[in-house]
Amino acid sequence: MIGELADSIARQVDTLAGTVSQAFMEPVIRVGVTGLARAGKTVFITSLVANLLNLGRMGGLAAQAQGRIEAAYLQPQPDDTVARFQFEAHLGALTGARPHWPTSTRAVSELRLSLRITPRGLLGGLSGARIVHIDIVDYPGEWLLDLGLMEKSYEAWSGEVLARLEGRDEAVDFLKEAGAVAGGEAFEEPLAEALATSFTGYLTAARDAGYYDCTPGRFLLPGALEGSPVLTFAPLPKAESAGRKSLWREMERRYEAYKAKVVTPFFRDHFSKIDRQVVLIDALGAIHKGPEALEDMRRAMSDILEAFKPGQNAFLKRLFLGRRVEKILFAATKADHLHHEQHAALTGIVEALVRGAADRASFAGAEVCAMSIAALRATEEAEMRHDGERLKLVRGQLLESGKQAAFYAGDLPSDPAKLLQPAREGAQRWLDQDYQIMSFAPAVLNLARGDGPPHIRLDRAAEFLIGDRL
Ligand code: GDP
Repeated sequence: MIGELADSIARQVDTLAGTVSQAFMEPVIRVGVTGLARAGKTVFITSLVANLLNLGRMGGLAAQAQGRIEAAYLQPQPDDTVARFQFEAHLGALTGARPHWPTSTRAVSELRLSLRITPRGLLGGLSGARIVHIDIVDYPGEWLLDLGLMEKSYEAWSGEVLARLEGRDEAVDFLKEAGAVAGGEAFEEPLAEALATSFTGYLTAARDAGYYDCTPGRFLLPGALEGSPVLTFAPLPKAESAGRKSLWREMERRYEAYKAKVVTPFFRDHFSKIDRQVVLIDALGAIHKGPEALEDMRRAMSDILEAFKPGQNAFLKRLFLGRRVEKILFAATKADHLHHEQHAALTGIVEALVRGAADRASFAGAEVCAMSIAALRATEEAEMRHDGERLKLVRGQLLESGKQAAFYAGDLPSDPAKLLQPAREGAQRWLDQDYQIMSFAPAVLNLARGDGPPHIRLDRAAEFLIGDRL
């Protein structure tokens, strides 16, 4: 209770400070970037920042088109205890002489980019430039899934997870080990460790097999918490009788500690301060894996989106105190795998993926938008004759072999229900056709002065996210 009170007082003071500094000083826009593992967060932030520092390809950003961005520069971020986003290293990877994809997001990190802007309107030139700070906060979407734990007891969580694991090949070993303990036995650290290791092994295998419901999120991305008691627990069948020093009670205590000491601080210190949010979705990747993966992604997205409805969740309501995320962009990433004529179909699929959640008025008035983007365009468009038809495809350098290849992902239907419906109904494979995906390497770049890396619609994404505040 005291913890809760302290949380909400801290938020009130923060909110007040935020408002004051925004009203009288230099405004700060906190942009959150999230998405499930490999969705494209690291590449997105790296290319977005590079393109804001070199605005040549940002014509879709109105302030740039109007010539009002006088300067853009990186600054020390305001949060001293949050890792800095490794922008220079990531950009080096993407744009060096031998370009390669950077290491992916593993924890929360942050970067401050500041823009010097000529104000809008007739008096713009007279009133002098103003500075707008953009704090970009990168964090794994899996951490949002942990929100589902906040109102759930250890017993309820264990029951749900164990039921979900039945029938999954990846879970056979863990289920056997969990089934062999009675729960009521005395707690022994080695047994807890063995169960947690086995459970983490399951989560890793499940994620690699394409499941997205791999919570608790920190088990896969532990960072500095690796090996600590908050990550040394696992779901267990309900014990008949579990005394104070039993395995079951200690597991329950650690589960509660995970919620209080890992999940709560993330939502309080990072999530609740975000003004604008990008949710990146590798829909093409899921479609390629098949109907089950797409349905699984749809469910994970709908769980993730719960985090954007603070009004409906007691825990978030306390942290947000009526504040809300003002804009949410759902972006299908890696659109450079498709010829542009298929981008609308991809956007339609992402819209449909999040529609269930977005329809409910519960985003509380946040402005929502979906688009298909490629943060770093690794391909060029091409046309080819195939069975007497002209096939519109893309061409790029394959990651594995280094060879140039032309690539056609498959015909995405203009009606997303053609994919989402069979996925919901448990289809094992796509009936009409297969969808391919290829890993392209980032191309060697010869950037003209003032140009950032090539992209698709990154400028429109930026316009939606921050355009109104520039
Ligand atoms: P994160 O886990 O969300 O940080 O994902 P990353 O940003 O590391 O991206 C994961 C992988 O997706 C990269 O290593 C690339 O292979 C691929 N990728 C990301 N963005 C793009 C893009 O714009 N175009 C292409 N072709 N591939 C991309």
